[in-house]
Amino acid sequence: MNEAALSLRDFNRLFPDEEAARAWFEDSRWPAGPVCPACGSVSDAYWLKSVRRWHCKGCTRQFTVTAGTPMHRTHLPLLVWAQAIYLIIVSSKGISAVKMAEMLGVSYETAWHLGHRIRAMMAERNPQLSGIVEAT
Ligand SMILES: [Zn+2]
Repeated sequence: MNEAALSLRDFNRLFPDEEAARAWFEDSRWPAGPVCPACGSVSDAYWLKSVRRWHCKGCTRQFTVTAGTPMHRTHLPLLVWAQAIYLIIVSSKGISAVKMAEMLGVSYETAWHLGHRIRAMMAERNPQLSGIVEAT
């Protein structure tokens, strides 16, 4: 891989907290505003703070930015996903699940699943990863 990764300082500036991570995943997936996976309406939803989900005004379904992606039904904060993606991208020789668990403060099983799904997303060149991979 010859793509440049962000510096750790830039990463931390881009992802200071969970809200920033959510905004980043949403902006990269939905440049024109949230897209309802049920009815396809664009930017016609409002954020429900209490349940942390978008509510579609058209069809009343609720959804999040991970719907229909390998991150679907994740129980992990999006910030941890962003950190895991970053670790994988900057580890040119690969990173073990043991090491990733240690660095992220999650269990080995969680780290293993994160690595597995992120590598799958990288293989299909998921646009959600492009900001971390290509931004300089
Ligand atoms: Zn809808």
